[in-house]
Amino acid sequence: MKPDINILVVDDSRTQQHNIVALCQDNGVGQYCTISHIEVAENGVIALEKLRATHFHLVFVDLEMPVMDGIELVRVIAKDKLADAIIILSGKDPSLIVSIGTMAESDGLTVVGTFQKPLSADNLISSLKRLASNANKENGKEQQKVYNRLSADHILEGINKQQITLYYQPKLTCQGLLLKGVEALARWPHPKFGDISPFEFITAAEEFGVISTLTHYLFDIALKQKQQWQQQEINFHLAFNLSPLSLADEGLVDKIANQVENYALQPKDIILEITENAISGEVSKAIATLAKLRLKGFNLAIDDYGTGFANAQQLSRVPATELKLDRVLVNNVTTNPQQRAILKSTVILAKELGLKTVAEGIEHLEDFKYIHQIDVDLLQGFYFAKPMAAHKIKHWLQKELPLIRKELKLTCN
Ligand code: C2E
Ligand code: MG
Ligand code: MG
Repeated sequence: MKPDINILVVDDSRTQQHNIVALCQDNGVGQYCTISHIEVAENGVIALEKLRATHFHLVFVDLEMPVMDGIELVRVIAKDKLADAIIILSGKDPSLIVSIGTMAESDGLTVVGTFQKPLSADNLISSLKRLASNANKENGKEQQKVYNRLSADHILEGINKQQITLYYQPKLTCQGLLLKGVEALARWPHPKFGDISPFEFITAAEEFGVISTLTHYLFDIALKQKQQWQQQEINFHLAFNLSPLSLADEGLVDKIANQVENYALQPKDIILEITENAISGEVSKAIATLAKLRLKGFNLAIDDYGTGFANAQQLSRVPATELKLDRVLVNNVTTNPQQRAILKSTVILAKELGLKTVAEGIEHLEDFKYIHQIDVDLLQGFYFAKPMAAHKIKHWLQKELPLIRKELKLTCN
């Protein structure tokens, strides 16, 4: 859904004000949002008066202004929650602009862009895309509140009636774009509530103490599917998400190993994913479970790396085989020099630790090109394929993947 937005442009230069307003009124912008109202202010004091009188969704803030500078203005906007999102602009060097962006985010503001002046149409569009996707996420959160009604019985019913199922998202080699594996992702098209996000029902299952039942039910579906693919001689690994809570379950390792044996599959073809936050904090129990899984021959991935606070030392203590770089590090990496530095050095660190790297959430060609340059091992993202029902994988592999390969060769050479 396209958001309807009010914009305030704060800049002491008339030329810059006109440039931004003209770009906002350009046709391209209409794809992502509808601008109901746009105003300008030449300094922070006037801006604050306007912000207190009208609700602005997006504010462009120039850093150097007389009377009240942009840094001060950003702090007040954050403290008094005067806008939904900001874009920071300055003629100064990019690292300064980015660090003001980091300051604003840590004060709780959504920063959808940090750019050197003058603002370009491309930068404006990428910021508006981000703003629209944030607005949709906020709507999603509102909708998700409906599901606070979920109970253990709902989840058990979803399992018993086989409403909860799995989709699969391809994982490709960065070099050559070969299908190397699929990640199984839980889906619940609920007859009354509509689609419930996995985040929502998995969190609920964890809270209500039914996560173990849900995990083994889903793992069984995934293994059955893997066996069918194998029988059709489609061979690739299967990645499956484990809840961090499962790692405290004494019986997990044997149960999982038995399930794999029942389908005559090999643990080496299975990658169990656990999130980064499962390995920070008190982790000796988690490490013991993970080590046992490794001893049984399973591969292990650290998921969502970049969203939490695991440090390099914690990373080195986990017997993992793969590091999944979260989309917060990957998405729009080319537009943010600091993000680029973090991503690149994480890939180097992972290689030094003997971990395969997977870039998650690749949505844009530009992201792919950069990821390709820094020698990430595997790719996963909507740019290549969204998660899909099991029966669609074969068609995607035979018909769509060759087209993607062809197109990328044309664009990248
Ligand atoms: P995850 O394991 O990190 O899975 C990747 C998520 O990123 C998936 O969301 C996938 O649809 C999404 N994704 C992949 N490529 C892109 C992209 O290019 N752009 C964007 N915007 N998103 C992309 P999904 O399916 O909604 O799953 C969310 C999370 O829920 C998963 O994150 C995982 O932590 C959890 N989850 C899903 N299925 C299971 C499950 O069976 N068991 C457990 N314990 N957790 C699960
Ligand atoms: Mg995962
Ligand atoms: Mg992830």
